[in-house]
Amino acid sequence: MNAQLQTPSACPIAPPSTQEPLIGKSLEELRSLVKDMGEPAFRADQLHQWLYVHCVRNFDDMSNLKKSFRDKLAETHQVGSLSIAEKQVSQDGTTKYLFRLPDGKVVESVLMYFEERGTYALCLSTQVGCAVNCGFCATGKLGFMRNLSVAEIVEQYVYAQADSGKEVRNIVFMGQGEPMLNYDTVLQAIHILNKSAEVGMRHITISTSGIVPRIYDLAKEDMQLTLAISLHAPDNATREAIMPLNKKWPLEELMPALHHYVSTTGKRLTIEYILLAGVNDQPGHAHDLGKLLQGLKCNVNLIPYNPIGDAYGYKRPSGNAIHRFKDIVTAYGKKVTVRVERGVDIAAACGQLANKVQPV
Ligand code: SF4
Repeated sequence: MNAQLQTPSACPIAPPSTQEPLIGKSLEELRSLVKDMGEPAFRADQLHQWLYVHCVRNFDDMSNLKKSFRDKLAETHQVGSLSIAEKQVSQDGTTKYLFRLPDGKVVESVLMYFEERGTYALCLSTQVGCAVNCGFCATGKLGFMRNLSVAEIVEQYVYAQADSGKEVRNIVFMGQGEPMLNYDTVLQAIHILNKSAEVGMRHITISTSGIVPRIYDLAKEDMQLTLAISLHAPDNATREAIMPLNKKWPLEELMPALHHYVSTTGKRLTIEYILLAGVNDQPGHAHDLGKLLQGLKCNVNLIPYNPIGDAYGYKRPSGNAIHRFKDIVTAYGKKVTVRVERGVDIAAACGQLANKVQPV
């Protein structure tokens, strides 16, 4: 394997601190802070630029702020609160960042390059661990530890943007955690990413395992983002076997919520479907999926499973099984894509994020 591992000594590290991070604050919040410090309002605009346009990691780099102001800020605040515990670069250029949080816990983000479109996309985490416990997912095996804060979510983006030197214009909330179980915080983070970091709302995707009440809530928000649903099975029995949350919100509840979302927002959904050999990849499953999705404005994204050793007992379907499944669902009038996995050699693919470095 040619995957490159960068140890912390090779990466910029912010020292641990209990001071409040500035990253994650809106321009309005920075204006209020600056006013309380007796500084003119334009200082907030300068600060905002350093945080979200130049993505600097320390006060000394904020060269147009007078030293006395920087020193005063540093007494009560830090630029960001994450430090890098590990960085791995895949053979295909995918970069996995393992961030250490102020309380010592760790969380991962993945930066992917899509050659055909010439764009970068960043997969962000929203929780440490996850309570949903999908059967094929490494994060689910960690259990739920805690929600991330607005600052911790936004800083994953700011860090990756600065470290890569690339223009990262696409964000997917598809990393560790269920974003809809940290709903208010994720929405606040999206507003900062959109307004301050200027990531277009149409370039932001929230992926959910199907937290039905939050789908109705999101429909009311009038946001132009994309909603992706991890469906993974066309019937309750199969879905429940791989996604225990289906007991709480079975398809009879999930599907009406999806129809409501589309009719309220006019937006096309993305249906995510992980293909597990012999579990949900048979022709009958494909026909049932085609029928289930009839009348729903959506595209289907098939994700051939990446085995994590033999850990969970699932296997990747053959190429023939994948194409057969795709053809059947396509015949029901759906646009179906097969996801090209990124970062397989560094375990950065969907469902593989497992915080390999343990908390200190
Ligand atoms: S797939 Fe997503 S929702 Fe399911 S356990 Fe993993 S992180 Fe949680």
